[in-house]
Amino acid sequence: MKYCFGVDIGGTTVKIGLFKTDGELVDKWEIKTRTENKGEAILPDIAESLKKKMEEKGIEASQMSGIGIGVPAPVDDNGVVQNTANLGWGYKEVNREMEELTGLKVAAGNDANVAALGEMWLGAGKGQKNMIMVTLGTGVGGGVIVNGHPLVGAHGAGGEIGHLCVNYEETEHCGCGKTGCLEQYASATGIARLAKKRLAADDAASSLRDKKEISAKTVFDALKDGDKVAEEIVEEFGVYLGHAMANLAAVVDPSVIVIGGGVSKAGEILLDYVEKNFREKAFFANKNTEFVLATLGNDAGICGAAKLIL
Ligand code: ZN
Repeated sequence: MKYCFGVDIGGTTVKIGLFKTDGELVDKWEIKTRTENKGEAILPDIAESLKKKMEEKGIEASQMSGIGIGVPAPVDDNGVVQNTANLGWGYKEVNREMEELTGLKVAAGNDANVAALGEMWLGAGKGQKNMIMVTLGTGVGGGVIVNGHPLVGAHGAGGEIGHLCVNYEETEHCGCGKTGCLEQYASATGIARLAKKRLAADDAASSLRDKKEISAKTVFDALKDGDKVAEEIVEEFGVYLGHAMANLAAVVDPSVIVIGGGVSKAGEILLDYVEKNFREKAFFANKNTEFVLATLGNDAGICGAAKLIL
């Protein structure tokens, strides 16, 4: 039996999984992400932690297939990162540096693409080869899998679904500097923004007006309680996300669209609003695309990273 490591680097912690190559998770743990001094300690810290784990489990280097790494930044096919928002790294050759530190084969990829690969291997997209995954968190992340492989692109930025322009009239800016990005309507912060705008538009009665703070969760909770204004807000979210997915489906032709991230905890009711609007705009050949909720949660990253090296 062979083993591999799946490493998911985040801004505050690094999640690590030791897997058997058939997908069985043997052990998982976390270490701190030390971002000071341009993040120079991050890869050495990981290498150290992996070596310790191999000693603890009595695993020889010859039993290791390698190390897969998810990085929160665009990563090209050679594992090269040009810049990161929250690791301190500028230009970094992740594959080469990690191979030098460990003597093992290394493959690095963008974290959202890697999470999509994880859901395809062991989660909601199991058995599929063509898949779109959208992660609705603070922002909107995405991963596109074509014929079993993540779409990386020329700059490592393939699958950046959150920055599709879905509203040409928008005047407020997205975190990326543009206006009208999907992230401005379909992320947790985007849904809260839609809600505040809707509530300010008129005096329609809504339980949301009694809330101290409006979040994606309070909106979905109000919807489940039958609040009409909350339903309008979720409908608007569903139009933006559903139509964006229909446009993407015309390019990717996925068999399944997986929706994950914190917002997806709202459950199946979220899929109803996205799916209905998707079908309204989808090209006839894409109309039967299946919608499912992600199942791996925070483990998608380590699972996908492991799959990246196999
Ligand atoms: Zn944007």
